[in-house]
Amino acid sequence: MELAPSPDLVAQRLVAPERPAAAPSEREQAFADLARLATAVLGAPIALIALVDDGPPLLCASAGLDRDDASAYLSFCTFAIQRGEACELADLDVEPQLADHPLVAFGSPLGDGSRVRSLAAAPLCDRDGRTLGVLCVLDDVPRRLGEEQRRGLLALARQAAQRIELDRRERELAEQRAALARARAEALTSARAKDVFLANMGHELRTPLNAILGCAELLREEATAAGLGQLLPDIQTVDRSGRHLVAVIEDILDLARLEAGVPQLRREPVAVAPLAEEMEAAVRPQLRGRPLRWRLALEPGLGDISTDATKLRQILLNLLSNAIKFTAGGEVELAVRLVREGDREFVAFRVADTGIGIAADKLSLLFRDFSQVHDRRHNFGGTGLGLAISRRFARLLGGDIVVDSELGRGSRFTLLLPRA
Ligand code: ADP
Repeated sequence: MELAPSPDLVAQRLVAPERPAAAPSEREQAFADLARLATAVLGAPIALIALVDDGPPLLCASAGLDRDDASAYLSFCTFAIQRGEACELADLDVEPQLADHPLVAFGSPLGDGSRVRSLAAAPLCDRDGRTLGVLCVLDDVPRRLGEEQRRGLLALARQAAQRIELDRRERELAEQRAALARARAEALTSARAKDVFLANMGHELRTPLNAILGCAELLREEATAAGLGQLLPDIQTVDRSGRHLVAVIEDILDLARLEAGVPQLRREPVAVAPLAEEMEAAVRPQLRGRPLRWRLALEPGLGDISTDATKLRQILLNLLSNAIKFTAGGEVELAVRLVREGDREFVAFRVADTGIGIAADKLSLLFRDFSQVHDRRHNFGGTGLGLAISRRFARLLGGDIVVDSELGRGSRFTLLLPRA
């Protein structure tokens, strides 16, 4: 049997006078609207929305009641949540668990005489079926809901649950954003600390190293003058190791600067052929005493390139030093020519050697930080940073480094840089 509510009763029953309150938040307003909608759809005087978190249910919104008075009705929500599913109690006078409830037995504390006589409730569930709260509608007449009303109640409960999930996701997002901001701030602080540390470390290590190198040079001269030639190999070892350490420090500082941000580039017109000849002069000492032929092949009319000369020198020196280091005997060549790609012109610096070469499956590892692709027992030295830094510089200059190689036959590293 369906008992239709009487509109005039709905108007007077259980309704407490509204008190002025602080303006509700957008969230409070949304839940209050849902509660009001529930009273309208079900034609009942009171609706409550209560939420559960970890503790007991808390009143979130109500319609038809002053907020302070509404808390007296919270036990109906607790009851409905304990039921764990949508429920409809058409006459509370005959419900063993609720018949003795003061609001059922004696009526509203406001003294208007109306008693709570029927209850309809739907749980608010998240996607995983967890109960987040309840939408509870009370009437002061015994009644059953119509089919439309039942569906309306469930739809409103779904909406309320969605709103809770949305709020939760927004809260999680805000927490994630805050955590990210904190992590970023910490990362910036430690990056700054790292920069300062590296700058100091570079200075602290380079200063005594330069003193050691200066002393080694002095000792070499004095040993030669005093006819103590037997000391020269040891002095050379000090000198070589010192220079190696300087190179390692420079590599690590370069990498740190690259990671700290894009380094300042100073583009200027650089005459290509003289620069290549300068490279030849720079590597000549490394060729001395080695069974290596050196070739410099320059295409006529190379002209100028607009680039950062220091970075270009650094890349070429690294490629040439590697070619010499990894070629026990044979030939090392620097060939420079112009290459056209569409309407762009590039200068191609190719460093070729007939050395130990690189296995095809190792080629992709070459440009990684600290990567050395040959057995360390060969003791070639180095840090495995040169190519990684060189490629980053090349890319910053608008170009790239490409490589092809054959194990046991040699390698060709080509630095391509845009001419303009
Ligand atoms: P480093 O030479 O300091 O180890 P690089 O980044 O310059 O660092 O080179 C990385 C690795 O690539 C080298 O350790 C070597 O295994 C390989 N490699 C580089 N150039 C050559 C070359 N010309 N021939 C053979 N192997 C090379």
